[in-house]
Amino acid sequence: MQKAKNRREVEGERGVCILCGKETSGAPARQDFEIRTARRLRQALKLPERHTISCKGCFQECARRGEAFGKKRKSYLAYAALFFLLLIFGSAGLGGFTPWLILPGALGAAIISLLPYASYFPSFGK
Ligand SMILES: [Zn+2]
Repeated sequence: MQKAKNRREVEGERGVCILCGKETSGAPARQDFEIRTARRLRQALKLPERHTISCKGCFQECARRGEAFGKKRKSYLAYAALFFLLLIFGSAGLGGFTPWLILPGALGAAIISLLPYASYFPSFGK
């Protein structure tokens, strides 16, 4: 097992480069929640399994974009939390708080935290 793992690290994984679409071998995307979900979806739809990788030529750009997305996602999570807190505490401060505000507040926060996924890019860092 250990040997196979080492070989994979040297040669990379076969798959489709997320940037140029070439079928080759390269660095696999980190198996985050999004990648696992996409993989399960493909299995459910009976699509052939496809590994998301970054080929050698695209690796720097892929690493950069993956990092940019990670930062974007973090700041949008902060915006979502801020929106929720402002809505709840803002209305409480104005004396207009009702528990019913939690629902649109949570919905709005969920929408805000999903916004960065319009430009989703997997992470290639460790
Ligand atoms: Zn490529």
